[in-house]
Amino acid sequence: MRMSRLFLRTLRDDPAGADIASHRLLLRAGCIRQVASGMYAWLPVGQRVLAKVAQIVREEMDAAGAQEMTLPITQPLELWERSGRNDDYGPLMFRLEDRKQVKFCLSPTAEEVITTIVAGELKSYRDLPVNLYQINWKYRDELRPRFGLLRAREFLMKDAYSFHVDVDDLRRTYQDMFDAYSRVFTRCALTFRAVEGESGEIGGDINHEFMAMAEIGEDDIVWCQKCDYAANAEVARRKSEQHDGGSADAELEKVHTPGMPGIMAVAQHLGTPEGELLKCIAFHLDDGVGLALLPGDRELNEAALRKAVAPRTARLFEDDDFAAHPGLVKGYIGPDATGVALVIADPLVSAPHAWVTGANEKDHHVRNAALGRDFSVAEWADLVAVVPGDPCPSCGSPLSIDRGIEVGQVFQLGTKYAEAMGALYTDEDSEQHPMVMGCYGIGISRIVTAVVEEHHDELGIAWPSALAPYDVHLVAITGKGKATGEVSEAADKLYDELTAAGVSVLYDDRDASPGVKFADADLLGMPTRLTLGAKGVARGVVERRNRKTGADDELPLDGAAEALRG
Ligand code: ATP
Ligand code: MG
Repeated sequence: MRMSRLFLRTLRDDPAGADIASHRLLLRAGCIRQVASGMYAWLPVGQRVLAKVAQIVREEMDAAGAQEMTLPITQPLELWERSGRNDDYGPLMFRLEDRKQVKFCLSPTAEEVITTIVAGELKSYRDLPVNLYQINWKYRDELRPRFGLLRAREFLMKDAYSFHVDVDDLRRTYQDMFDAYSRVFTRCALTFRAVEGESGEIGGDINHEFMAMAEIGEDDIVWCQKCDYAANAEVARRKSEQHDGGSADAELEKVHTPGMPGIMAVAQHLGTPEGELLKCIAFHLDDGVGLALLPGDRELNEAALRKAVAPRTARLFEDDDFAAHPGLVKGYIGPDATGVALVIADPLVSAPHAWVTGANEKDHHVRNAALGRDFSVAEWADLVAVVPGDPCPSCGSPLSIDRGIEVGQVFQLGTKYAEAMGALYTDEDSEQHPMVMGCYGIGISRIVTAVVEEHHDELGIAWPSALAPYDVHLVAITGKGKATGEVSEAADKLYDELTAAGVSVLYDDRDASPGVKFADADLLGMPTRLTLGAKGVARGVVERRNRKTGADDELPLDGAAEALRG
């Protein structure tokens, strides 16, 4: 491609409102332009990258036995009402009506539609398993679209759905897809980890998230330095030990803690480490009130609490909720507060210990509260958020926490959608059963962000070879004077030879200064830059620079195209 003809305008300065490197660089390199909040146009250079990611995904899905198809983006809302997910998705879903007031939505995902189609086509155990995928735009009206392509409202996703006679069969495909995902992210040159994940709106039990490791990632990943345990912090566990409490020697003592509703203030006032305080967190539990107990130096993992009380639902108290519950004194709640239906505690609270905790009275705490004597616990569950250094639940070694970008997720769904949408098959004895399903997503446009986050420097993007818009960036330094024609001619010839050899070339044939051309080459980030100037032409060589390492060498002009052939 001749740069003089390319639809591309690079930006020298950082665009306003782009907070992370990948967003800034993708805008500056003319890959994308924002059309509305979280909605982007893919310009020709960016389009080539997006297509390459999609092609890698396509190849690995095909190799794993999945079959490509395309589903409509506009979906009847009625299908979502049938599965109950119209409510679950709430404002995250874009909804619209046709001229006859029939309701539709823009696909945020496609379990309902694909399951309905499969239900209409397949009836027998002989037809299964089947694994279907599409690469298509998805729509989610995210509360906070941000970081460019990372959290967009329109984004490209590969979504696959598999249908099986039983869980054993599902597990085989799940493993195949897991392996295919690992190959996809390896080919995209991402440093990634597969971690135990949260299931979110999708539902289902076993699932893994593929996380590209990145400082700007929105997810915390807990991982073990010794074994292969790794989990999203939302579902991460620590090795916990259950004790009997006790240590009730000293008497319960009320202390005056005026205007100190916070753990830190009380700990300072009493000269006690925060870990010696007992935190009592109030929450609504269906129609009652619950208290979650944990040591004062620990944070509650809300997802863990929700899981622990399921199928009951838990919602933490907000300031307004205290007025209706006089037994719970905000900032001074004790574990023995009145009107509480459930006291649930983390096993850390079971250690023999004399706690400082709320006295259920404004401006007062108590010392020496002992489990078993002064308060009791009805249920035990892992509730604390894991912190670095906590023991691994598998091997006990210290856990680490890093940030990651979720680039893909695989789920074992079970029969939820098959039951809702009537996807049944008949077994050998003519009995009907719901199909067992898996679903598998990859954020194709989000991968582009993750790749740029990992592969850039202060000058610009440094695309990994597999995703680079072009293999080679050929810069002609035509200068002024009589050599101009010669250099242009030699560069044109090299461009033609490279193209004929199957090397894709971005050829900077513009009438611009070397400084401008080099700055653009660094910003756009093709893996190899070739520079041809008057001296090189005279000596019959072209300069080669590796964008990633900065290493320079020279190639003889004769045979350069052959040497660079992929
Ligand atoms: P998140 O937790 O980041 O909101 P999710 O778990 O809701 O994502 P899935 O339903 O698992 O997303 O979608 C499959 C994949 O689509 C995700 O792994 C992610 O890579 C991508 N994806 C999801 N939401 C977005 C978005 N708003 N913008 C870009 N990519 C997204
Ligand atoms: Mg997900």
